[in-house]
Parts: sequence; structure tokens; C-alpha cells
Amino acid sequence: MCGAVTWTYSGDVTRNLVCNCADCQRATSAPFTAFLGMRPEQLRWTGDIRHYESSPNTFRGFCSSCGTRLYFRSDKWPHEVDVHAATLTDPDEYQPHAQVFICSRAKWLNRLQSIPVHEGFQQNPAD
Ligand SMILES: [Zn+2]
Ligand SMILES: [Zn+2]
Repeated sequence: MCGAVTWTYSGDVTRNLVCNCADCQRATSAPFTAFLGMRPEQLRWTGDIRHYESSPNTFRGFCSSCGTRLYFRSDKWPHEVDVHAATLTDPDEYQPHAQVFICSRAKWLNRLQSIPVHEGFQQNPAD
């Protein structure tokens, strides 16, 4: 978000997943997150990245300046880094192939098609 971290990738995308798991929900403060699987040796980062261990041998990276979530990686899949699709230069380019952990998908997502929509904030917060 702040521009302090960038990445470039020259390899093939190993998978495109929308993840509904509870850990991703908590880690991103969002109902789901979208990833692109990339090969670590062909992924180049610039900027100061911090990470934490969100579950044993699983790490989540973020920008040290603004906190934007950058990636997920696990020792279970040492040949893949899952980069958040929202960090693409044009996130609209993202085309997911599958949804995973559908068992923990937020129930209220099913209601989105049936509630009012607005271009901006609906109204000012109540005093
Ligand atoms: Zn997940
Ligand atoms: Zn940042």
C-alpha cells in the first residue's frame, strides 16, 4: 500500500487460490484472501519485509512501514511462496482457479448479492 515493498516474478504461477481458512481470516482481518503461488528462486523482493510464524513452520510476511500483508509460506511447501493477489500492480488481473477451506467460508458472504450497494460510504457515521 505505501510502496516501500515491491516484488517482481519471472516464473510460472503454481496455483491461484482463494483461501477461506480461519488463519487467513484472522491474519488479514478479511473474510478470505487470494494468493498466487510462486517459485521462491524466481521471486525478487525489494524493501523491508517482516514476518511472523502464524502456525508451526508457517510464516506470514508484511511491510514494515504500513503492515500490508505480502505472503504466506509454509515448510510443508518449501518450493512455493503464496503472494497476496491484492499486491499485484493490477489486482483486477487476478483469476483464481479454486477456493479452498470452504468449510470456514464466512456465512455472510452469501448475503452480499442481496444487500444494497453504494459507490462510496453510504452515510456519515452517527454522532
Ligand atoms: Zn488460508
Ligand atoms: Zn508498506
